[in-house]
Amino acid sequence: MAREAIGAVVDAIGSEVRIEDLAIDAPETGEVLVRLVASGVCHSDLWAIEHGNWGAPFPMLLGHEGAGVVEELGEGVDTPRVGDPVVLAWAVPCGTCGPCRRGVPRRCSHAWQQPPRVRRARDSAPLAGTLSLGTLATRTVVHAAQAVPMPPELPLRDACLLGCGVSTGVGAATQTAKVWPGARVAVIGLGGIGLAALQGARIAGAERLIAVDVAAPKLAWAERFGATDTVDASATDAVAAVRELTQGDGVDFAFEATGVPSVVSQAVAMLDYAGVAVAIGVPPIPAEVTLSWNGTEDAAYPRKTSLLITDGGDPIPAEDFPEMARWALEGRLDLGGMVTRELALGDLDEAFRAMLAGEVIRSVVVFDP
Ligand SMILES: [Zn+2]
Ligand SMILES: [Zn+2]
Repeated sequence: MAREAIGAVVDAIGSEVRIEDLAIDAPETGEVLVRLVASGVCHSDLWAIEHGNWGAPFPMLLGHEGAGVVEELGEGVDTPRVGDPVVLAWAVPCGTCGPCRRGVPRRCSHAWQQPPRVRRARDSAPLAGTLSLGTLATRTVVHAAQAVPMPPELPLRDACLLGCGVSTGVGAATQTAKVWPGARVAVIGLGGIGLAALQGARIAGAERLIAVDVAAPKLAWAERFGATDTVDASATDAVAAVRELTQGDGVDFAFEATGVPSVVSQAVAMLDYAGVAVAIGVPPIPAEVTLSWNGTEDAAYPRKTSLLITDGGDPIPAEDFPEMARWALEGRLDLGGMVTRELALGDLDEAFRAMLAGEVIRSVVVFDP
C-alpha cells in the first residue's frame, strides 16, 4: 500500500514552515493510520515552533487539531475501524503518571509520547508530531486511543476543533470548573478558547455570561455565542465593571483565556465569595502572578478563593469528544460558527498572521480529498 502524503514540517526551533513530501510507516501494534480531512490552526502550533515541542525532538510535523478518516489498522486494534470518521486527541490520559495512578486521569501530566511513524521523503528523517499528533499533513499515524470516533453526520471541518481549542474551553467550564446551573460567569479573552469556555458555561446552565476583551469585534463574537453582558476592557477597569454588573458581588467563576499573568490576577479579583478562577491561557516564560491575599475587599484569603489551572480542558477524550459532538448535533454547541476561515495547507503563514491579528476565531486547513 502506497503510504504517501504531504505535510507541514519545521526543521528546528524558530525555523520556517515547509510543505514537504512524506513517507508514512505502517501503523504498528495498537496504532492507526488516518487520512486527514481538516485541521485547525492553534496558537500552540506557533508556540511549538517558537519554544519547542514539549520535549519531543525536531524536525516536527506540525498540527494537533485534526479530524479525518481511518485508513489502516495496526495489530490488535478493535476501535476505531477502517472508514470511521475520527477526531484526533493529544490529551489522552497516559495511565502511568501519578494522577492517572491515583484515579484522577483528568489531571494527567500528559507525559505519554507517540513515537514518530511519519518520515520526510527526501532524507527519511523521522518527524515528531506536535503534541504527539502532527495533523497538518494529509496522513498521519497515531495510537488508536488518540483517534476518537465521531458521528458520521458531524462535518469533520467543524469536528476537528474538538481536538484542541473547543475541548479546552468547553472542558475548562464543564470539567475543570464544574460550572453549575444559575452561576454568574466572566470570561476574559475571547479568542477561540475563550469563546469555547463561554459556550461551555452556557451549556452548563450559567445565567450570567460576562464577556471581557479589549477588542470590539471579539465582544461582538461573544454576543453571538451567548454572552449576556460585554465589558470593553480597553475603555474601563474590567474588575470594577464586572462587580458593577453583579451588584458589587462579583462572579462565581472567572476564566482567563489570554495567558497574560496580570489577567489571572484580574480573574481572581472579580470573584464573589468562594469563587473559582480558572487559568487556561499558556503564559510567557518566565511569568509570575501577583494576588491580593488579605486586607482588601477582593483579597483571595478571606474570600476563600480557588484558583485552578487547566491543561487542554482536562479531558478524557473518549468520553468528552462524543458528548461534545452530540451537543453540536443538538445545536447546543456551535462548532461551525467557530470556523471563520478555511484555507489550504500552503497558506499556513496567512493562518498564523490572521490568528495573531485577532481576525479569526479559528482557521481550518481543509485537505483535498
Ligand atoms: Zn497520566
Ligand atoms: Zn491547540
